Amino acid sequence: MRLLVATRNAGKVRELARLFADLEGVELVGLDAYPDVADVVEDADTFEGNAAKKAFEVAEAVGLPTVADDSGLVVDALDGAPGVYSARYAGGHGDDDANNDKLLRELEPVADADRTGRFVCVLAFADPSGPLGAEVHLEDGAIEGHILREARGAGGFGYDPLFLPIGETRTTAEMPAAEKNAISHRAVASGKMRDFLRGYLSDHPKRR
Ligand code: IMP
Repeated sequence: MRLLVATRNAGKVRELARLFADLEGVELVGLDAYPDVADVVEDADTFEGNAAKKAFEVAEAVGLPTVADDSGLVVDALDGAPGVYSARYAGGHGDDDANNDKLLRELEPVADADRTGRFVCVLAFADPSGPLGAEVHLEDGAIEGHILREARGAGGFGYDPLFLPIGETRTTAEMPAAEKNAISHRAVASGKMRDFLRGYLSDHPKRR
């Protein structure tokens, strides 16, 4: 089965290919192989809504079973913000420094013990011309932690310099990439999706 990953980020495709390596008969391709497919507008107000929309629309456009993801940081003291707006919290899309500055400002009055939150990843699998039809299968993963008062570390991306996982002394920006990738919200969701796909392929051998 050719499985399309609904992203133009080659790193994400490689990471998922590594996690799905033991799925027999599955060949992963990224959206770079399909330059004509329009970007999906991520306008849902939940990670699930955005991931499902992306997976289904891209699967229909290309005609391949598709996995899509949505992820972000959820902070309890901010009623779940930045949430689905994580990439554009401060306005411009993907301006990590501005996003981190805004997060620090918003959390300024919040006591250390209440600065709890989590990175969340939702993966969606759509296979509209297969047995799932209009249904989309969802899996999620999270990593719990605290938001620090100042940035630490030069690795990772996004909110990593401010995020201290529970039980850790290093932020996710201070961890080697392989170590972060082994415990991340994406690793948890991907592991669950790999298990689902293994069952899906053995229940529906024609999808191989
Ligand atoms: P996307 O789902 O890959 O587009 O990520 C959305 C946004 O969530 C990113 O731009 C980051 O701001 C934030 N985010 C998601 N995953 C991580 C992570 O592992 N570390 C830091 N920030 C993340």
